[in-house]
Amino acid sequence: MNDSFPEFYCPFSDECYECCLDTEMTLSNFDVKKIEEGGYNRRDFLEEKEGFLILQNFEGHCYFLKDKRCSIYKIRPQGCRFYPLIYDFEVDEILIDELCTNHTEFDADDYDSISEDVIIFVNEIVEEKEKRLKKKLRKK
Ligand code: SF4
Repeated sequence: MNDSFPEFYCPFSDECYECCLDTEMTLSNFDVKKIEEGGYNRRDFLEEKEGFLILQNFEGHCYFLKDKRCSIYKIRPQGCRFYPLIYDFEVDEILIDELCTNHTEFDADDYDSISEDVIIFVNEIVEEKEKRLKKKLRKK
């Protein structure tokens, strides 16, 4: 589990919040714990989709987007810190998400220093999802 919060620096974050609209950002258990420690209730910001924990939307944007800014910026989830770096399972590669408006401004190779953290994070959320689904099956 990573407590150091490595991140991708987005130079457009002052004027762009598109990645916080209709978000499907996946959270790790660690992300949820951090946000709860910040005083939020998981019932308000979290939903489960196929075993993954994802941020809830409110009126078309992330629950935490207030006045076009992230209201939990210091404790925002790891996936938000990495975006638009994403891991593509099909090609087993870290890519810049083409859904990001500014994706042509970035080169994934420039972010080699955090690519290991992205892979650790992805493995963590997949492992947690599998445990969650197994637990549910056991309860049936
Ligand atoms: S937690 Fe913050 S950065 Fe992440 S999607 Fe929500 S508003 Fe955006």
